Amino acid sequence: MKPETFDIIRQTLPILELHGEKIADCFYKNMFRNNPEVKTFFNPAHQHEGTQQRALAGALCAYAQHADNPEKLKHAIELIAHKHVALGIKPEHYPIVGNNLLLTLREVLGEAASDDIIDAWADAYGLLAGLFIDREDDLYNQQTQQHGWQGFKAFNLIRRHQESSNITSFYLSPMDKKPLQAYLPGQYITLKVQLADGSQVMRNYSLSAAPREDYFRISVKKEKNQLPEHADGVVSNRLHDNFHEGDQLLVTPPSGVFTLKLPSDNHRRVVFIAGGVGITPLLSMLHHGLAHSPYRPFTLIQLARNNDVLPFHEELLVLAHTYENFDWHVRLSQPASIVNSDKLHQSLGHIDKALLEQLLPDPQADYYLCGPKAMMKATRLLLQQRGVEDSAIFAEFFGPAEAL
Ligand code: FAD
Repeated sequence: MKPETFDIIRQTLPILELHGEKIADCFYKNMFRNNPEVKTFFNPAHQHEGTQQRALAGALCAYAQHADNPEKLKHAIELIAHKHVALGIKPEHYPIVGNNLLLTLREVLGEAASDDIIDAWADAYGLLAGLFIDREDDLYNQQTQQHGWQGFKAFNLIRRHQESSNITSFYLSPMDKKPLQAYLPGQYITLKVQLADGSQVMRNYSLSAAPREDYFRISVKKEKNQLPEHADGVVSNRLHDNFHEGDQLLVTPPSGVFTLKLPSDNHRRVVFIAGGVGITPLLSMLHHGLAHSPYRPFTLIQLARNNDVLPFHEELLVLAHTYENFDWHVRLSQPASIVNSDKLHQSLGHIDKALLEQLLPDPQADYYLCGPKAMMKATRLLLQQRGVEDSAIFAEFFGPAEAL
């Protein structure tokens, strides 16, 4: 791509920042009208909440800023490529997105969208699409080599276990009985679930156990409507209410970049900070870390509203009793009562400076965060205030891929 093209793209940044969400909103409307076949890749709840639009608007701005420096976009491209592979996005989908994006830029920007601007965006999009297509091709090949399949494979639901009043674990074993290969703790799979009307929808779920040959374990929170006028979560409720032992589910191989990277210093602490069901990828990491790094201190700060919705209590109690190098603290924001049990330290409130100072007098550690967005934002800020480098903070959000 010519340097002038990058200049033109960069010049569109202020206008994208101003109209980003409107562009994203119109873009999805145009694309779903012109190419309804791609609707299956998107979750309508994310469209209603606006999270999908915000993710795209942020991505466009970030791309406009760094289009000539793919190194700056590397992490985001990797994150999104994994999400695309988890959903089965293929090269033929890129022109659909490209055409609808250009159409939308013309529509929203009107006269400001000169031919030069549209041509520059067409070139820039082509470049970005090429990066994704190449990386996703590598990832599909890796999945076939490492896990033995790509796309969806039939699994049998062999066990359900209630972890809290609203979280249930589902144990999934491949119908072909082939041993499952190790995944990286923190990775997720995609489920394809048939709804009552016969339609099929996809959702990502983190693997919540350490890798095993015989099953994957996922742990799903039953999502109730946040407002009376909204529907309950489609897939989580269907799994909880309609899937029983012996039922079949379609499952992809594991994907995802939010994985445990044990520091080379065997004594450097690893801290997991989990909000609600956000504990799932962290629990897989914790099991793996404790089994493979005996001299390293591990801390889990588990945040939940109350004891009813506090998952994995028994499992964590066993870990806390087994491993001297594991500290576990539970903080409840709206407790009905406090449970005092051996090795389980509970406190009240939200995560704050005093708690971090008390549990981690030396803040130097690697931190893994997963939970609601507001909790992760507040935690990151607290860690930064304690002098923790951004490079030591890793986070996953259970929603559309964040801005580039
Ligand atoms: P949806 O139908 O997608 O609805 C989601 C929410 O939106 C609900 O609260 C619903 O009430 C609300 N809603 C519905 N209609 C509207 C509307 N019109 N306007 C606004 N809001 C509305 N989840 C887990 O439980 N465990 C995991 O381990 C896990 N891991 C994940 C890993 C990754 C990488 C990602 C991206 C997500 C993960 N998730 C996990 C989340 C999971 O993929 C689903 O998003 C979740 O189960 C909700 O899906 P659903 O179909 O039940 O709800």
